[in-house]
Amino acid sequence: MARQGTENTLKINIAIDGPAGAGKSTIARFVAKELSYIYVDTGAMYRAVTWFMLKHQIEPEFSEKVLQHTQNMVIELIPGEQGQKVLVNGEDVTSFIRSQEVSGMVSRYAQIEGLRTHLVGLQRQMALRKGVVMDGRDIGTTVLPDAEVKIFMTATVEERALRRFKELRDQEGLTLEQLEKDIAERDRLDEGREISPLRCADDAIIVDTTHMDITQVVNTIVSYCITHRDGENH
Ligand code: C5P
Repeated sequence: MARQGTENTLKINIAIDGPAGAGKSTIARFVAKELSYIYVDTGAMYRAVTWFMLKHQIEPEFSEKVLQHTQNMVIELIPGEQGQKVLVNGEDVTSFIRSQEVSGMVSRYAQIEGLRTHLVGLQRQMALRKGVVMDGRDIGTTVLPDAEVKIFMTATVEERALRRFKELRDQEGLTLEQLEKDIAERDRLDEGREISPLRCADDAIIVDTTHMDITQVVNTIVSYCITHRDGENH
């Protein structure tokens, strides 16, 4: 039966998961643009928390304190032409959260159970009205297990490190070898943690982007989403 009349029923949620540097955020942003959906970068939320904790010298071992501060933080993700802006308590931290310092620590904070529960709650609220493309590690498995489309994006660790290197090459002292090591370590922590580890959902489609360019990946995912969305609404 066609479900028409309200905007919500015509929209679906799209979950994009995968390891560090697989290109999820670039692809998710383009897919959201194509479909006129809202893009939610959940990694930016974990990064924003990490940036705050590092600034205030609160180590991940002090999980109660981390949680207390996180519950009082206002994290805003603001879409824009140049990508998404991230604000913490009104302060623009967009560039700070991509630093090597934050990248090196984020997976340790992301293991804190209470922190995850809090952020997952916020993420679910953002997706309530549907029409969201959300990327992360646990979107298809934990945050939005009912998402109509689930994609698991991956690429070899060498390819992922190379992409990051090209993106960040202006950062002083950065080497490809170090990036490769950092990414592999982040994968290890994200896959190995007890609470919602990085895992491909049983009903996700795996897209290996090692030998694909951005346009190919976006087209593949968008056409899959459209087919699915139209199927949902009939
Ligand atoms: O996506 P991005 O690489 O920016 O994510 C940074 C880190 O945040 C990940 O390595 C992971 O530790 C954490 N994360 C997570 N769950 C998510 C998104 C990110 O644990 N849904």
